[in-house]
Amino acid sequence: MNQCYFCGKEAVTKEHVPPKSMFPSHMRQDLIKVPSCKKHNNEKSGNDEYFRYLVMGQSKIVMSQKRFKTLLNNLLRSIKRKPALTVALLNTKKKIRIMDNGNIVENTIKVDEVRLNDSLEAISKGIYYFECNQIFNGITQIYALDVAFTDNNDREILYFENQKEVNRKILNNFKDAQFKGNNPIVFKYRNVIQEKSAFIHLRFYNEIDYVIGLYEA
Ligand SMILES: [Zn+2]
Repeated sequence: MNQCYFCGKEAVTKEHVPPKSMFPSHMRQDLIKVPSCKKHNNEKSGNDEYFRYLVMGQSKIVMSQKRFKTLLNNLLRSIKRKPALTVALLNTKKKIRIMDNGNIVENTIKVDEVRLNDSLEAISKGIYYFECNQIFNGITQIYALDVAFTDNNDREILYFENQKEVNRKILNNFKDAQFKGNNPIVFKYRNVIQEKSAFIHLRFYNEIDYVIGLYEA
């Protein structure tokens, strides 16, 4: 029996990691696939679309190249057909600070951290399964490298001022690891697998980074 990459139940389908719909149609050769149960195939779920919206909406490549823009427009059309998802996108405004060429740029985007974390957990567990051919049982910790969330009173700015140092420490885990991925302009990753933990660095569209720590419970 093939086991689901996420929960270990019987797999009935395959899940693309990350979602196939992040890749323009001419870049869909040799994508990463893992066995999945029905529940953990996120391809058609709202979380998957939410995640794509968030990442693609931040990407300079997506905004500037026609084939990528088409993907984003298709996504927006699909989101509009789903009232609950549209509400989620509208109701979760947060102020964020983004590092742009070493400068801090303030921006307001809409972030639903629960949805975002669910997607990143699924992607990182998919990569872990692909690399190790086994399921990771444990907790995940998400590190967003270039984004610091602030509340309305800017109480988390201090955290952001330490961000460069935090990033340096996180990325130091990967100093001997090479990026992998067949369509690196869309997605590449590197990983460090240890006995009781793993670190996975995801990079989307050459510039949007997330690091996920997997820790055995
Ligand atoms: Zn499952």
